[in-house]
Amino acid sequence: MPLKALDSSQNAVYSLAYANTIELKERHPEGFTCPYCQQKMFARKPNKKIFHFYHASQCTSKIEHHPESMEHLLGKQTLYDELNKQIQNSKNSELKVEIEYPVKEAGEHGRIADLMITHKEQPHIAIECQLANITVELLKKRTQDYEKQGIGVIWFIGKKADTHENRQFLYEEFGDCHIIKFEERIINNNETIFEAIFKDN
Ligand SMILES: [Zn+2]
Repeated sequence: MPLKALDSSQNAVYSLAYANTIELKERHPEGFTCPYCQQKMFARKPNKKIFHFYHASQCTSKIEHHPESMEHLLGKQTLYDELNKQIQNSKNSELKVEIEYPVKEAGEHGRIADLMITHKEQPHIAIECQLANITVELLKKRTQDYEKQGIGVIWFIGKKADTHENRQFLYEEFGDCHIIKFEERIINNNETIFEAIFKDN
């Protein structure tokens, strides 16, 4: 369930920028397509849930993506809002945060970062919100896929991905571990992360 689609001129459209489907359809009466498989996409906002795009059937692109839960959308949206706020406060016009950012060279068929902090329009730090089961080996591999492209990664783990082994790996690899807790709607440690990102630039 992506938050991004393309309009008929191939420009990215973000559901988060619109209050509801009526406003979105008024602005884009020609409809939307998937940036990866070019199939038609539609927008929906289930009751009290996150406004997103969806395929009529399934995305046929080979680029690595997974079925996403509402909580994953909420995680992406919360992180996006928070990062955007921080970037605006930093007044560093060279930094931007983009949602669902494709890195075509990463891994076997490319990867889509949940969020990407770009510096001078270049991918800089991928922000991954991982809630589904994942092994340390996969976390490691995906981290390396980005690093080989010169892109850093910050993982936020929650739900099933929040295991003792994964926490330990993140502490060892990054010296820090960021946990998403939906019950409290708190994303731990976000301030330190954002400060660290801005210090680098
Ligand atoms: Zn698709």
